[in-house]
Amino acid sequence: MKRSKIKDILSKDKVGEKVSVKGWVRTRRGNKNVQFVALNDGSTINNIQIVFPLDRFTEEQLKPITTGASIHVEGDLVESMGKGQATEIQATELEVYGTADAETYPLQKKGHSLEFLREIAHLRPRTNTFGAVLRVRSALAYAIHKFFQDKGFYYLNTPLITASDCEGAGAMFQVTTLPLNELPKTEDGAVDYSQDFFGKPTALTVSGQLEGELGATAIGEIYTFGPTFRAENSNTPRHLAEFWMIEPEMAFYDITDNMDLAEEFVKYCIKYALDNCRDDIEFLQKMYDPELIARLEGVLAKPFKRLTYTEGVEILEKSGKKFEFPVYWGADLQSEHERYLVEEHFKTPVILTDYPKEIKAFYMKQNEDGKTVRAMDVLFPNIGEIIGGSEREENYDKLMARIEELNIPMKDMWWYLDTRRFGTVPHAGFGLGFERLVLFVTGMTNIRDVIPFPRTPKNAEF
Ligand code: ATP
Ligand code: MN
Repeated sequence: MKRSKIKDILSKDKVGEKVSVKGWVRTRRGNKNVQFVALNDGSTINNIQIVFPLDRFTEEQLKPITTGASIHVEGDLVESMGKGQATEIQATELEVYGTADAETYPLQKKGHSLEFLREIAHLRPRTNTFGAVLRVRSALAYAIHKFFQDKGFYYLNTPLITASDCEGAGAMFQVTTLPLNELPKTEDGAVDYSQDFFGKPTALTVSGQLEGELGATAIGEIYTFGPTFRAENSNTPRHLAEFWMIEPEMAFYDITDNMDLAEEFVKYCIKYALDNCRDDIEFLQKMYDPELIARLEGVLAKPFKRLTYTEGVEILEKSGKKFEFPVYWGADLQSEHERYLVEEHFKTPVILTDYPKEIKAFYMKQNEDGKTVRAMDVLFPNIGEIIGGSEREENYDKLMARIEELNIPMKDMWWYLDTRRFGTVPHAGFGLGFERLVLFVTGMTNIRDVIPFPRTPKNAEF
């Protein structure tokens, strides 16, 4: 018999049919006449109830059915008399695939802390919480592709191994095949990278943007969606050493077009999750965050508040609030500042623009004032910065002047400069940290809980 997914047989329209289900046991309870098993197969947060009458099954047969065991059941789908479910299966056949010893199975009991579950990251997908998070994450990934593909953007795959460290977005992980205990040296004692795999130093990328610009200035509108790596030693609930980033890059967009796209994009993703992951989001709301759905709907309800960095700093200075990090014009805003603007002052997501050029990357378009650049950060409640982007400096001379000012090694940048030497155009783009979006949509508070296998300082176990 063909296997049914549990999500497809929970409503009454299949009642009366014979069904076959396969999954993992969540609980078993009952009495001398009948045993009830809650089975989950990952297709939904909801379990199906399976009824084993003890005049058809022996105690001995049912003994291996403990929490975590995997089984295959066939039976009749009937309307359920019990509360909490519309249907249940009257079992006629049972096959046990794998037992899970009650003494040693770590998820035998419910209600483990998220901290404990991080230590058993290989098993935590079997919990309701992580099932929900992983389904939402998958749906959001699909929504991202759908949003851009429907708009005619092209998916561009940028390299994970790169030879340029000019983005300045963060410390990099070196990639090498040189023997670390016996490094080849040049005559003057430096490491001889000509003997390395690529013949020069290479590292894992911190961003696909520079290559994204090559795509945008050729085929118009592109987006990347892939892993990025930052060897920054920041042990915060919002930073990972390996995370996924979405980086659209668009020819002929200015900063306003860029903001419009960013706002439409995140709203689309949030709405997609609300429309398609309702059960999971309701579960997460019930378990972790009573405000979750209200917060998601709140973000959709209004236009984001747009203001300049300078205006933002003025508000922060006048707020009278004691911040851990001082705020003044020129300071890089900390998440406490960003969250004050979003959560307390405006009570809506904020897009801050026109940051001081000193705290932003070299490629951002300079404003007439000589002090600020056309940067934009999208700031969200509970998260702080979720998107960082800018209009790019398309003028060759201005870009070169900035590169020289910052002493960026030119020889690494020749290919990038060619976009400005040949047929340069106004263009813009941004980067969305995928896990920050998943954090926001799931209401989780630690970024380690929204990626299946988190990579953070001193942690790469599973
Ligand atoms: P932050 O100031 O929060 O460290 P950033 O300014 O270094 O971020 P960008 O270089 O602008 O980040 O990267 C674009 C987006 O990628 C950010 O808006 C954020 O959503 C995400 N991001 C950046 N660093 C990390 C990280 N270490 N882990 C997870 N997401 C990140
Ligand atoms: Mn940023």
